[in-house]
Amino acid sequence: MLQRFYPDYIYNSTYEIDFHYYYNTGIRGIIFDIDNTLVPHGADADERAIVLFEKLRQIGFSTCLLSNNKEPRVLRFNQLIQSEYIYKAGKPGQKGYQRAMECMGTSIEQTMFVGDQLFTDVWGAKKLGITCVLVRPIHPKEEIQIVLKRYLERIVLRSYCKKKDTILIGFMGTGKSTIGKLLAQQQHRLFIDTDAYIEAKEGCSISDIFEQKGEDYFRSLETKVLGELNRVTHNAVIATGGGLPLRRENAELLSGMGEVIYLQTSADTILERLKGDTTRPLLNTENPRERIEQLLLERDEKYMAASQKKLVTDGFSAEEIVAILD
Ligand SMILES: [Mg+2]
Repeated sequence: MLQRFYPDYIYNSTYEIDFHYYYNTGIRGIIFDIDNTLVPHGADADERAIVLFEKLRQIGFSTCLLSNNKEPRVLRFNQLIQSEYIYKAGKPGQKGYQRAMECMGTSIEQTMFVGDQLFTDVWGAKKLGITCVLVRPIHPKEEIQIVLKRYLERIVLRSYCKKKDTILIGFMGTGKSTIGKLLAQQQHRLFIDTDAYIEAKEGCSISDIFEQKGEDYFRSLETKVLGELNRVTHNAVIATGGGLPLRRENAELLSGMGEVIYLQTSADTILERLKGDTTRPLLNTENPRERIEQLLLERDEKYMAASQKKLVTDGFSAEEIVAILD
């Protein structure tokens, strides 16, 4: 029931969002609430807001301000920002969001929303399926009708923050990403693949990171990323890189984030699935079968220790596995 108000990501402030990451995931347009999202309620654009919009333009984003406030307020804020804007937007109604996307020329998949209120900002964006970021309100002093809403918001946020992630671990080729994506889709949850997350954060492919900076560097990135995901997402379905849970530190972080499920698959199936895939640095070897068998043997115990549940996926389709997990 409360799920419809759950954001995809939560940040303490608009100004700590890593917008490069979202650009690298394919986002091209950002819709912003103004009051308490970008500046304190009723305030003009300040230096950091101006700098932020300059930076966003440089990265390549289109932006649109979406405010339920009247035209003079929005115009005043926008004077030094020079973004597209919509006033009296009627959030959480969908029309304002749709007009914003038209202004920016972006599709639902290319659009994200940043706002500070669950029952207007987040709910409206979620209804349309836009990537949705909630930020903590900038200034605690608010109008009385908002104060009441905040009380109800706290109830929803508390239930959201109690939600656990579902985390899929296992060797490469066991179907973590395919299964994770399907499961998330079915349950209207956010899906995160830690490899894809790292690639978007670094703006660089995993094989390039391995090649240029080495495995140790990549493994520390994985640890850093888990800490970050733990802060900004709840209730997500997360597929991890094959080596990620092997570090003790990571295994501990994972178990704090939610239910960890080990997808176990035989070497035969893995070989079959990875045939022709040249993007797996660990398999760039003369005898991949031997390498896989050796790694499976080495890792099985650690995967077991890091998980609460094991699923053998040989002979099952992704849909069948999802049905078991659902
Ligand atoms: Mg606001």
